[in-house]
Amino acid sequence: MSKTKAAPNHFIKAIAGNDVRNGQYPEIYTRFPPEPNGYLHLGHAKSICLNFGLAKDLGGHCNLRFDDTNPEKESTEFMESIRASVEWLGFEWDRLCYASDYYEHLYGFALELIDKGLAYVDDLNAEQMREYRGTLTEKGKNSPNRDRPIAQNRDLFERMKAGEFKEGDYTLRAKIDMESPNFVMRDPILYRIRFAHHYRAGDKWCIYPMYDFTHCISDALEGITHSLCTLEFQDNRELYNWVLANITIEQTITGEKGKTLPRQIEFGRSNLEYAMASKRKLIQLVNEGHVSGWNDPRMTTLVGLKRRGYTPKSIRDYCAEIGVTKKDSTIDMAILENAIRHDLEATAKRVFGVTDPLKVVITNYPEGQTEGFEVANHPKDESLGKRTLNFGKEVYIEQDDFMLDPPADYFRLGPGREVRLRYGYAITCNEFVTDDAGKVVELHCTYDPLSARGKTADGRKIKGIIHWVNADEAVGAEVRVYDRLFTDPNPAAAEDFTALINPESLTVYPNAKLEPSVLSASAQDRFQFERVGYFCFDEEDSEMESGKLVMNRTVSLRDTWGKQNR
Ligand code: ATP
Ligand code: MG
Repeated sequence: MSKTKAAPNHFIKAIAGNDVRNGQYPEIYTRFPPEPNGYLHLGHAKSICLNFGLAKDLGGHCNLRFDDTNPEKESTEFMESIRASVEWLGFEWDRLCYASDYYEHLYGFALELIDKGLAYVDDLNAEQMREYRGTLTEKGKNSPNRDRPIAQNRDLFERMKAGEFKEGDYTLRAKIDMESPNFVMRDPILYRIRFAHHYRAGDKWCIYPMYDFTHCISDALEGITHSLCTLEFQDNRELYNWVLANITIEQTITGEKGKTLPRQIEFGRSNLEYAMASKRKLIQLVNEGHVSGWNDPRMTTLVGLKRRGYTPKSIRDYCAEIGVTKKDSTIDMAILENAIRHDLEATAKRVFGVTDPLKVVITNYPEGQTEGFEVANHPKDESLGKRTLNFGKEVYIEQDDFMLDPPADYFRLGPGREVRLRYGYAITCNEFVTDDAGKVVELHCTYDPLSARGKTADGRKIKGIIHWVNADEAVGAEVRVYDRLFTDPNPAAAEDFTALINPESLTVYPNAKLEPSVLSASAQDRFQFERVGYFCFDEEDSEMESGKLVMNRTVSLRDTWGKQNR
């Protein structure tokens, strides 16, 4: 793994460190517990870096555990993508676990609660259950089934498992306290009936355990010491502890007996501005075709960020930068973009790429002549080597680097103006050619043969320096430039977030011209197109062998967007 910013200290690290020093736990054991109901996003990266990072920093272990107890929403595709994303981020799990592997254990613990008179089978329907539950200001009422005899509860629960009842007929509930000020403790459901195929358990089960029952037991079975979760589970902590306190759980899956039970600690979610951090809503973007797929480079899924050109290190650095706090937070897009800029600034090869080309004919340059200028691939890192840029009679420059009627402080090209082609000669524009619509399609320039390599014979200064590509050997490419997917900093809050999709989030330049050195690059290489931004090959649509190049702009050179919009 390449070097990442040092993991910052935070309150959870302090607590966990203390717990080990006090002898509360012999060593730290954490887990990252996603539900395989979608692809991971940047918010998950925070949890991954926290859980795996804590274990690494404190010399402990971390499991990847699939919290897979909702058969209708989960799939092998999602599970596999999550596994790949955790690996891509650069983390190694101690054990790969699935809550669905614990169904038999969970069932056994449910029977134990029934036998202790701590769980009962209820036949209230969802609406009745809501009524009985009370409100924040009103106590709940006991279900008429609450005092069902133990033997009957056991019989009904076994028959629920045997498939004798329809979905919704019965649930298994914990018998705690319908008057508890904590809503979660008002006889929560532990099991419900679902006749659904599970991507791993198949059709073996028609009763499925609820999150609150499953999570604490899975943690305990794996010998997890610190169960880190986001703030919305704060009220669930009481139930987490209640379940573990009321079952006999001393034998962990790892085979060690009598471990101290896990401890739940909550931390704040971090959501990126102008992005969506909810699997449920991301799935809607995909299913309704607002984006090309989970890995659309505008998506802040980990697969989307990867395709966009983000490196695992940049994501880890972003997570280190935002830190871990007890409050939910909204993160400025500039923090993410600076993390990748910082990484690519140091590592990306510099090349010339013209996104929106305008042909320039250098009328006084000898026909058929070429000259090679040797240039460094990186201004600071010599190990990235050198290459030769060939200069010739026809070159491409950016449309944007020419103006018909430029203001005085425009230091690029215009009629009668002089500009330097970086590493090459100074040229002066004498003529321009327009098409029928009046668009400038070609420039006729003359070059100053005594102006090579940044100098002029008469000592005159040329302020403007632009990039260019030799037309003779230019490689064609499609260049895709991305902007925020949403026009609003908090799209998740809107009733219809799809109405906030930025219509200009993708700009395609079909006729970009690149210098030929890109052809000898490998598919994973990253580039800085000088003056334009950082780019990578699109992993889906580029065909390196046949020379079909599709390039994604990962990020601009500077935070120009932020300036315009603030
Ligand atoms: P989503 O609503 O996107 O499905 P989730 O929390 O339901 O998110 P899980 O698969 O349950 O998704 O998440 C796995 C872990 O990642 C959980 O511990 C969760 O708290 C954490 N997590 C999810 N989103 C964020 C976020 N934005 N910031 C920090 N942690 C997050
Ligand atoms: Mg969840």
